[in-house]
Amino acid sequence: MLGLPVTGNTKEYEETQDMKAGKNIPLGVEITTENKCGFCTNSKCCTYITEELVTPRSMHDFDHMLWQLSHRNIQAYKDEDGWYLLINNACTHLESDGRCGIYDDRPMICREYTNDYCEFDEDSEDGFDLFFEDYAALLKYVKRRFKTWSRYATTRDEHLNES
Ligand code: SF4
Ligand code: SF4
Repeated sequence: MLGLPVTGNTKEYEETQDMKAGKNIPLGVEITTENKCGFCTNSKCCTYITEELVTPRSMHDFDHMLWQLSHRNIQAYKDEDGWYLLINNACTHLESDGRCGIYDDRPMICREYTNDYCEFDEDSEDGFDLFFEDYAALLKYVKRRFKTWSRYATTRDEHLNES
């Protein structure tokens, strides 16, 4: 993400590649915050955005989320900070070699992002209390959470004027 130069020898990479997803670490190399981005192969932090949600409570709130998760590349999660939409779309400025195409002009949020402990070190999913990968996953949760969901779902037209 940060456009740091990839250091090391390309041939050595091919011979000693760490096959763990998203990493390409030559044997014996110590990873630091200075060289970490250079060894990150998927630039995960530049491939999505999140939007905080008002905590969903009612069936109507979850109905709305079902609509959101009906769209491609949209997921949702809840962690210790609240509920979020996860919009899995890579930044248009992310270049094929993992560098930022507008590095000197990148937005503030990109500058504030620290790689001290990022997706290179641990998948974000590991910190989720709840994760909904798609419409089906959320629907399953909603049916479990609301005993009256089926009745609500089959009478949506009657709720039109209540929302
Ligand atoms: S996920 Fe971490 S290591 Fe990879 S590019 Fe982003 S900040 Fe750098
Ligand atoms: S502007 Fe650059 S640093 Fe920011 S998300 Fe896009 S590619 Fe990454």
